[in-house]
Amino acid sequence: MTTFQELGLSPELLQSINNMGFEEATPIQRDTIPTALKGTDLIGQAQTGTGKTAAFGIPLIQKMDTKSKLVQGIVLAPTRELAVQVAEELNKIGQFKGIKTLPIYGGQSIVRQIKALKNGPHIIVGTPGRVQDHINRKTLKLESVHTVVLDEADEMLNMGFVEDIEKILENVPTERHTMLFSATMPKQIQNLAAKFMKDVLIIKVKASEMTVRSIEQEYVEVKERQKFDALCRLMDIHSPELAIVFGRTKRRVDELSEALNKRGYSAEGIHGDLPQAKRDKVLRAFKNNTIEVLVATDVAARGLDISGVSHVYNFDIPQDPESYVHRIGRTGRAGKTGYAVTFITPREIDHLHTIEKITKRKIEKRAIPSVSEAMEGQQQMALEKLMEVVQEDAFGGYKQTAVELLEDNDSVTLLAAALKLLTKEPDTTPINLTDEPPLSSKKRRPNSNRFSDRRRSGGTGKREGGRDNRRTGYSRGDRPNSSRDGASNRSAGRPDQSFRSQKRVREDHKNR
Ligand code: ADP
Ligand code: MG
Repeated sequence: MTTFQELGLSPELLQSINNMGFEEATPIQRDTIPTALKGTDLIGQAQTGTGKTAAFGIPLIQKMDTKSKLVQGIVLAPTRELAVQVAEELNKIGQFKGIKTLPIYGGQSIVRQIKALKNGPHIIVGTPGRVQDHINRKTLKLESVHTVVLDEADEMLNMGFVEDIEKILENVPTERHTMLFSATMPKQIQNLAAKFMKDVLIIKVKASEMTVRSIEQEYVEVKERQKFDALCRLMDIHSPELAIVFGRTKRRVDELSEALNKRGYSAEGIHGDLPQAKRDKVLRAFKNNTIEVLVATDVAARGLDISGVSHVYNFDIPQDPESYVHRIGRTGRAGKTGYAVTFITPREIDHLHTIEKITKRKIEKRAIPSVSEAMEGQQQMALEKLMEVVQEDAFGGYKQTAVELLEDNDSVTLLAAALKLLTKEPDTTPINLTDEPPLSSKKRRPNSNRFSDRRRSGGTGKREGGRDNRRTGYSRGDRPNSSRDGASNRSAGRPDQSFRSQKRVREDHKNR
């Protein structure tokens, strides 16, 4: 265990860290903060949810000069949500030192941003497009910047931001400290580093050090057609406080959230094709607990700090082990235990074994729950609700009625009726989901790099009756994420982010 005191931080920083409730440094923080404080260029790699923001935010803020009114630090992030989230965290870290951080991103009024920029923020957190826009308008000057951070660098690469980053960095003095953070380390990241950084130190938190300890993991073997009922029954048993259901494609997410609502769960979907405003709204609703189930694609949920998730349901097994770790890392945060269950169709068992190998953890098999188990789970919930009310002991007005009822009925019958009323009985509203084909069972290299795979064109696009695929990797205009340019109009059944071209083949087939 490493405390923040050991890391050589100033009293103001220790005070704000304490105020934020951080007790010990996470592995990536432990390893990067001392190096970053020395001013060494570095790449920090660790999964989502391991505290990378503070890993760069703490040294960044410690290095700020409060007397200067000029922008001294710039953080680039791929999406508006992330920019806002990072700026919030930096403002918390800098609260006692008096360091101001300003997020700037597309979609917000430029006039408002220009005004805010005039207030002398020390640090800017921005999306590449909007930052460039301000540079061109001369409303943002970077000549006094001494520290640059590229956050979620793999995602920025993936969204085709390399040229923008390059242009932005031309405006920053070459004598600077540059840090790059990423959840994955495709080769392109190292190319990027070679271009923009000097004598880089790579700091990597290994998969085996990832925080899967406190997460109970199970899997269920189901046929594609049984998945939805299995999901409902599991949710009835678990009564999750806050759940995320992961689906493989946008169409899947849309269909699942609609189906869940039909069966009486309050669910909303989020994926890259939704307009920004809608995504924001859904996330806010989820964070405020006004919806209980968030249905998401990997990409939409990527990097977002959503805390308090009690259950993760992998409705479709993820394309690669890394995504698995990212997904389940949504639960079991901050010392709480979490639960994750993964549905696999019979042909996907190899993928599960690969995940087990990489995470060095056995995932326990669980049977498909029966209707009566689901029913029991719901009854248990009703019982708990009832007992809570009993405990509160504030139902004077009902007691007289109860006495009268008991004159003509026996108590067990009455109580059973009350419980029945309180219990949400399994809903069997018919649901029709479009089948997702299983992941190809071709053995994958355990540490196969999804990024380079993604760029590979064609692939072996063969499945039953499959045809070869001629599509090649992404071009910029094909980018799936809408955060930058508003909604794209890609067909809904495609994966939210085509991790592998093979996947696209299947989807192309489906959509014919
Ligand atoms: P990442 O960028 O690696 O995905 P974040 O920086 O978004 O992760 O952090 C995830 C969550 O963990 C945030 O809510 C953050 O406030 C919290 N966190 C970060 N560092 C610590 C720590 N040392 N102790 C407790 N919570 C932390
Ligand atoms: Mg992050």
